[in-house]
Amino acid sequence: MTTDPTKQRWALTARGLVQGVGFRPFVHRLAGELGLAGLVRNDLLGARIEVEGTLPRLAAFVARLRAELPAPGYIERLDQELLPATGEPGFVIGASCAGGLAEAWVLPDLATCPECRRELFDPADRRLGYPFLNCTHCGPRFSIVRDLPYDRANTTMAGFALCPDCQREYDDPADRRFHAQPTACAVCGPRLASALDDATARLHAGQIVAVKGLGGYHLAVDARNDDAIRRLRDRKHREAKPLAVMVAGLDEARGIAAVSAAEAELLTSPAAPIVLLSPRADNGLAPSVAPGQTTLGVMLAYTPLHHLLLAAMAGPLVMTSGNLTDEPIAYVDAEVRTRLDGVADAILSHNRPIERRCDDSVVRVWRGRLLPYRRSRGYAPVPLALDDHGEATVLAVGSHQKNTFCLTRGGEAFLSHHIGDLENDLALAAFETGIADFERLFRLQPTVLAHDLHPDYWATRYALERAVREGQVLVGVQHHHAHLAACLADNGRHDRLLGVCFDGTGWGPDGSVWGGEILLGDRRDYRRVGRLRPFVLPGGESAVRQGWRVAVALAAQAGVSLDAARLGVEPERFDAVAAMVASGFACLPTSSAGRLFDAAAALAGVGSVSRYEGEAAILLEGACRAGGDVAPFDVSADEIDWRPAVDWLWRRSGPAAGAFHRGLAEATARLCERLREQHSVAVVALSGGCMQNVTLLSELADRLHNRGFEVLTHRRVPPNDGGLSLGQAAVARARLAGD
Ligand code: ZN
Ligand code: ZN
Ligand code: FE
Repeated sequence: MTTDPTKQRWALTARGLVQGVGFRPFVHRLAGELGLAGLVRNDLLGARIEVEGTLPRLAAFVARLRAELPAPGYIERLDQELLPATGEPGFVIGASCAGGLAEAWVLPDLATCPECRRELFDPADRRLGYPFLNCTHCGPRFSIVRDLPYDRANTTMAGFALCPDCQREYDDPADRRFHAQPTACAVCGPRLASALDDATARLHAGQIVAVKGLGGYHLAVDARNDDAIRRLRDRKHREAKPLAVMVAGLDEARGIAAVSAAEAELLTSPAAPIVLLSPRADNGLAPSVAPGQTTLGVMLAYTPLHHLLLAAMAGPLVMTSGNLTDEPIAYVDAEVRTRLDGVADAILSHNRPIERRCDDSVVRVWRGRLLPYRRSRGYAPVPLALDDHGEATVLAVGSHQKNTFCLTRGGEAFLSHHIGDLENDLALAAFETGIADFERLFRLQPTVLAHDLHPDYWATRYALERAVREGQVLVGVQHHHAHLAACLADNGRHDRLLGVCFDGTGWGPDGSVWGGEILLGDRRDYRRVGRLRPFVLPGGESAVRQGWRVAVALAAQAGVSLDAARLGVEPERFDAVAAMVASGFACLPTSSAGRLFDAAAALAGVGSVSRYEGEAAILLEGACRAGGDVAPFDVSADEIDWRPAVDWLWRRSGPAAGAFHRGLAEATARLCERLREQHSVAVVALSGGCMQNVTLLSELADRLHNRGFEVLTHRRVPPNDGGLSLGQAAVARARLAGD
């Protein structure tokens, strides 16, 4: 074949979100428009393109490739090299090539797109009412991928051969389903195992139906039926923790809650997370959906099956993860009958296997931007840039609660989906198989294991035992230093700054329970420069759910005498705890901000016990009113002294919740001001589970800002322990690189 001397052939390697987003059809179309010859194919790096044509057209191709790539596709890096021209005409989509390193990104699961939703309810469309339709813009990804590259044969759709109609769409570059790997129709695709009508009739009748979703089973129940929800709570052993609600669309969401523009954007994004909204007063929901809460978790239907269910229900559904409290979400068909036996009245299943579990994500909007509470479905496993010079492949094993793990590759951090609290065998198995799965999928063998210092954390033991077997370098990272580093990594920062790390529990190197710490540090090292004045937890862990016990301890230290009746406790129990505090028997020293909040809730008369982790603190935040008093705290050179506030809370006559938040924020800001003078740092990072409390977060951020501080908060990973593994990974990389 003769070659035209005015033509060149370029090889382009695209890295980023380029598989499973309609990238190849887009490239094919673009090349066609510009009259370029060549090919495009997926490989383990992402996608490889070869284009041949005149120089101006090649340049236009590269410019338009970046500018016109439809969301959620994203090119992180485009490498270019010159090849000899071949003169071969036409542009083809080549087969995938499995050689080389697995550097492609795996896409998260994507909510049903507007076009697919329209087809679902269009009587003229051949996919009318088909519960598994999807296209290159939407559908399952992470939850069905078995291996890379992302091709149908490497997904749980491998067993479904395309029918002639689907094949035609799949092969047609002009079609929305061109190379849509999970595409299917009623003729060739997955099917429901039982009738949809049966499930909706049961839901209407107040029954509990387990519904197979993307990353696992939900338990669904009519959100307006109080009896049904109480039955669900009873069976699931979930007494009071708020439940999330699923609605058909944005209009329906606006019917039950106030939705800002930023919240609407999140609700309708391809990630379709649960967004914490401010509920409307007469929204028709049963009171037992979210008792005592000032927020309501709302998500939009994100699979075709959800859309069909909600259309048939003509009202919101409670959708909660299919498990017993504290267990991971059920996702394996063979297990679901046993695991949800006695919980669900019926199961709505189908024959598309789920390759890996993935819980719903939970987020809220704070000051117009994303504040994640749980980063899972729709976000995982898109990597986060570490912005460091580390090369080591690090596995950071995370915390005990809200566990996620994190695996690094080059400058990218793959933060796992939500694993949960490592409290039982099922959760531990999910943790271990999750790690093995990521290592296989991304073809990574960690040489470094980063872990918390708590010797009894299951994740810590996993790291220590594995390193004995496999010889990895171990890097122990103090819990609150990991929170600080997570906030640094979240913001792409490397400087030395102050970290206000307020949470429930973290192992302190002095043998006490830390949790109200101000650290001075960077990604590599830290030292504690400030803290909450220590107090004791009478009875240790049992004080976590019984804030009144901590209140008794605080009052004793503050010289305030409480009375059992006003605290809402039987006199005998009160006396026993008071005696415990006086003797110091079974009293664990701590500086935990989380426990201080629990105690403040008891003292303020808001709640003396927590039926789930953090309940009293959430109720205390819910009781806040804007403006008004500021509870008094004392501040020394390195300590926030809560004793005056305890006295004030107990003697107060007016509302106390807001005053407590403002008082603690004011004291913290004042201490930061002193520390700035001492250490010449003017940046403060806010992290730890207490920073989910947006009242505290706002009060603190404003006060710091007004004092001239730059304030860093979380944007991509949760401030709670769900973000901890990212911080551990950042610390390990910084230490090894000697940054
Ligand atoms: Zn679609
Ligand atoms: Zn078909
Ligand atoms: Fe923590």
